[in-house]
Amino acid sequence: MKLIVGNWKLNPKTLKEAQKLALALNKAKTKNKVVLCPPYLYLPLIKSKFELGSQDLFWQEQGAYTGQVSGSMLKQFKVKYAIIGHSEKREVGDTDQEINLKLKAAIANKIIPILCVGFGIESGEDDEEVMIRIQNQLELDLKDVDPSKVIVAYEPVWAIGSGKAASAEHAEKTAMFIRMKFHIKKVLYGGSTNPTNAKEFLSKQIDGLLVGGSSIKADDFYKMITL
Ligand code: PEP
Repeated sequence: MKLIVGNWKLNPKTLKEAQKLALALNKAKTKNKVVLCPPYLYLPLIKSKFELGSQDLFWQEQGAYTGQVSGSMLKQFKVKYAIIGHSEKREVGDTDQEINLKLKAAIANKIIPILCVGFGIESGEDDEEVMIRIQNQLELDLKDVDPSKVIVAYEPVWAIGSGKAASAEHAEKTAMFIRMKFHIKKVLYGGSTNPTNAKEFLSKQIDGLLVGGSSIKADDFYKMITL
């Protein structure tokens, strides 16, 4: 059984479309574990047989933090997972220190964090360079965090939304490195996966996929979760 996570990002534009997307996926018969991560506002309004995840969370529980959403708030809306450290959040300022605090807040609220690594990686870097960057990121992000409680998504930033996925061999090698070196139980791959290339990633020693663009196309995501 693989874990397939759909990151809807800032999509779709209306609640109606979001509900329609979730409804279409409800028909899927799958042996995989599927998690849907809609925008915060839609979370309580999505009816899905699959589990829900948030796209982020804040590390404080309450206080003067305008615009933030805490783990305990998310928990009240049946959120089981949280994507943390996505490259689109790192791009606008999330630091490894903040990501570390977010991981701790998720775990304290019994929300399973899906920690994204791969920011800063350039296409064409060899496996060794990639491993060094990933190792540096994980050492900071996982400081004083129980790794057995964290799922890692390896997402080379150049592959996200670019239509150019990493090779399945490279993704597998990196996943094996992360599992062994950091005692992580599950490592996903993310970056331009679609119904055509998903099968190859899922045939490798990769525990699943974090899917962006293809997760908001009902037909495509349906195919991917039922592979
Ligand atoms: C992502 O945003 O995590 C992602 C993998 O996006 P995409 O599938 O569109 O590359």
